[in-house]
Amino acid sequence: MADFDAEIVSKITASLSTAGFAGDWIVSSDIVKLSDRKGTYILLMRLNKAAPIAIKRLRTDSLSPGAYLYAGNAYGPGGLAARLKRHFRKDKKVHWHVDRLTVRASELAAIVAPDNDECAIVEGLVRSGYFETALKGFGSSDCSHCESHLLKQSAACESNAGKLK
Ligand SMILES: [Zn+2]
Repeated sequence: MADFDAEIVSKITASLSTAGFAGDWIVSSDIVKLSDRKGTYILLMRLNKAAPIAIKRLRTDSLSPGAYLYAGNAYGPGGLAARLKRHFRKDKKVHWHVDRLTVRASELAAIVAPDNDECAIVEGLVRSGYFETALKGFGSSDCSHCESHLLKQSAACESNAGKLK
């Protein structure tokens, strides 16, 4: 977690653990250790400035600066290692919604939670009260029951764990 602000990480880790999710944070250099694991992951992204979104049906132009969590899964070839490697790369063709954030994020980290379901993770984080939908419809095109797979810290998270700067 060399690139990450330790204070931000500890606050988010505390909020995640309150919501029932614990794990070690992974940065780009840790990906080799994942071998061929497949499963679910939580991606932490920090935007220093607003990120343009430009997805017409989402009715917004940009996401404001701050910390965001995205829950996804990687069951295809290459599993978690291939997927996280792609998330951490800046030079890529924007394909998924979340690519719009990863190419602009000033910091990126992930927790792998192979035996979880990403929708259950989203549900647990929202239920904890520390995270809320960042943008309805974002990152959940394939999902019929989550508002979004992209979350941001809630007011409760800010007051309980301290404001994420
Ligand atoms: Zn879902």
